[in-house]
Amino acid sequence: MHLNEFIVHFIDVFNIYHLKFLQVQTLLALYICGICGIFKIQYKKLHMNRILTLLIVFFVLFSCDNVKKTTSEGSISEHKTEKSDTEEPTFGLVIHGGAGTILKKNMSDSLENAYKQKLEEAIRVGHEILKNGGTAMEAVTKTINIMEDSPLFNAGKGAVFTHEETNELDASVMDGATLNAGAVTGVTRIKNPIDLALEVMNNSPHVMLAGEGAEIFAQEKGFELVDPYYFYTENRFQSLQRVKQKESNSISSSSSSTFDPYIKDSKFGTVGCAALDKNGNLAAGTSTGGMTNKRWNRIGDAPIIGAGTYANNATCAVSSTGWGEYFIRAMVAHDISAMMEYKGVSLKEAAKEVIQEKVPNLGGNGGIVAIDKDGNVTMEFNTAGMYRAHMNAEGELVIGIYKD
Ligand code: ASP
Repeated sequence: MHLNEFIVHFIDVFNIYHLKFLQVQTLLALYICGICGIFKIQYKKLHMNRILTLLIVFFVLFSCDNVKKTTSEGSISEHKTEKSDTEEPTFGLVIHGGAGTILKKNMSDSLENAYKQKLEEAIRVGHEILKNGGTAMEAVTKTINIMEDSPLFNAGKGAVFTHEETNELDASVMDGATLNAGAVTGVTRIKNPIDLALEVMNNSPHVMLAGEGAEIFAQEKGFELVDPYYFYTENRFQSLQRVKQKESNSISSSSSSTFDPYIKDSKFGTVGCAALDKNGNLAAGTSTGGMTNKRWNRIGDAPIIGAGTYANNATCAVSSTGWGEYFIRAMVAHDISAMMEYKGVSLKEAAKEVIQEKVPNLGGNGGIVAIDKDGNVTMEFNTAGMYRAHMNAEGELVIGIYKD
């Protein structure tokens, strides 16, 4: 068999994937080697041996280099194609409407349905925004707006009353991409405090504005101020009267201050949302009327970045609800993120430790909702119930009120 025929036959037989890259170069190299071999016989004196060796080394190196380049480029583009073909960017959001002693036996069917419907309406608004490529922050604020406008929740329209029979509202937002944040506290004429918190974040050099100053800022930014009477709801007002009555009967102020005639038991009703958008950005927001019968311009955790609200693209986005004093002391929202960042634990584990161990060990109660950078969601609470819902990229909806 002629040398060339042998080579072609060899390549045909061992036609292994990466040998294909060698074919052209190898054939060429061996052709030249063959020619040189002939010359070698005829012109031994010209040191053809050395030239022959050099040629072989050169062609082998050239072939290897080509193989390396081709395979690595191949694997990158393969990876890219795989990603764009099969992996749609994930997104999702999770909300709460407050945690507390929410028991089935104290809830009428119609009230339970009203809560579920409002939770679903709110989360669908945010989900639609995310599905259409909107930002996590937009989803958070628009979802919270729905709950702020409902008298069912202790935020916006349904805000609880202070001891002085006024309504003082708090809210905060945080953007996980920039770690920028905005908050307002003690506002009395802002219909949707979460929008003002966003305005503080986006269009002021500050993070938190309080009371009258926050409202002057709001006016300057074109916000329409509502009459404080907008926040009057008979149920919340009666709730305050009952609490005051109990207080004067010297019943423990800590439990009486959360009494709610809606369910004939104490509860909190703050609202919050945490979201992940298609660009991998996280955001969180929380809005509240605080605690019934609060005085002295008391401020809870809801407007405190790190306690009531926290978001960081490296970890998760969290919104809290519960007994604010304890949530501030435990720095609940940031603690969950920090545990993930520094300890490397999952969102679920971090939330569990903070809500089931740290907060109750201090004497507090409540819960959180959170979503991590991969779209994992957790809704952890140590109370009898928490109004909650979450929805993922596939549109699967989960709504809960009581402990499962
Ligand atoms: N955390 C809120 C506060 O202490 C109350 C709530 O969650 O409903 O102001």
